[in-house]
Amino acid sequence: MKNIPYGRQLIDKDDIRAAVEVLKSDWITQGPKIKEFEDALTRYCGAKYAVAVSSGTAALHIACLAAGLKEQGEAITTPITFLATANSIIYSGAKPVFADINYATVNIDPKEIKKKITKKTKAILPVHFAGLPCDMSEIHKIAKDNNLTIIEDGCHAFGAEYRSKGKWVKIGSCRYSDMTVFSFHPVKHITTGEGGAITTNNRKIYEKLLALRSHGTYKTQEMIEGKGLWYYEMRDLGFNYRITDIQCAIGLSQIRKIDDLIQKRLRIAEIYDKEFGSIDGVEIPRVNKDKKHTYHLYLLKIDFDKLKTSRKKFVSLLKKKGIFTQVHYIPIYKQPYYKKRYKVNSKNFKNSEKYYKKALSIPIYSKMTDSEVKRVVSNIKELLNGN
Ligand SMILES: *Cc1c(COP(=O)(O)O)cnc(C)c1O
Repeated sequence: MKNIPYGRQLIDKDDIRAAVEVLKSDWITQGPKIKEFEDALTRYCGAKYAVAVSSGTAALHIACLAAGLKEQGEAITTPITFLATANSIIYSGAKPVFADINYATVNIDPKEIKKKITKKTKAILPVHFAGLPCDMSEIHKIAKDNNLTIIEDGCHAFGAEYRSKGKWVKIGSCRYSDMTVFSFHPVKHITTGEGGAITTNNRKIYEKLLALRSHGTYKTQEMIEGKGLWYYEMRDLGFNYRITDIQCAIGLSQIRKIDDLIQKRLRIAEIYDKEFGSIDGVEIPRVNKDKKHTYHLYLLKIDFDKLKTSRKKFVSLLKKKGIFTQVHYIPIYKQPYYKKRYKVNSKNFKNSEKYYKKALSIPIYSKMTDSEVKRVVSNIKELLNGN
């Protein structure tokens, strides 16, 4: 029997053809496909600018730098996210400060953000967890009142939307933020192998991000006219965070299929909702009418104590059946590195702790077949019923 992972890519003939075409062309990196992919991202998300980079983590890193994060500064984020969100704050030299989640949505709680603001706070990094948008207009208001930059971590939420003042707002449009970050790792909605991007509506931020992607170098028309075609200036300490044309060609091919890729996830989520929605001791994701969830992850909250079992046993029994589940995530403040440096008291994170005890992500990905979905449902139900 084939193993069922919690997530994986869907690569088809078109994606392969697109990559091969680039390999036969003159530019395999720093060529025309990068801008083409960025333009496709801005069109889809509804933002003015996009900068494609080598990973979601690289995107977060230069977004933090473009936001002006540095030593002595602080940025607020959720402890229930992938390590990269908080790590990127540390890369910039600033201190990550955690604000507790709302237990029902598993997203950062705006009320908790307010409590964590100090004179040193410079930015907020909300994460649209699992693919469910945060309350952006509320977070935006807090940021405005306190002069803070907002970097949305949209790595889980490509294609997701929320309604604000009667209008649907897409993640990545930066309607209520300065930047949005995406990842194109194989488990995400679209993939380029490794890869990431930042969208923004701010020209200054856009230019800074372009420079940081490539060693902090600038080349303007003025410089070319004054000094010559060869001239450039390094004004910031940047990196090589470039993405290749090969990857961008795959990304372009993937984004053409995005509606279908999301639809497939929604259909699986609908089946899971129906199958697990009325089981005692199990909570399914609840989505209110003002949000469109795109299910990077499908999260169950299981009361393992009530079911007289343990998550450890549950996960390993499923693995024996070839079904791979995961816990997203261990609250970041529990990681040894963070514990040693920041000494966070877990007692102040009641909702994160409560969620962490119950969390289990079950397989969901666009390539999942009906029979694989059935296998997951029947095996999990069997365990939940204790037989
Ligand atoms: C995947 C992910 C990232 C990092 O992306 P990489 O492309 O793996 O570097 C950051 N934040 C969140 C929430 C993610 O899920």
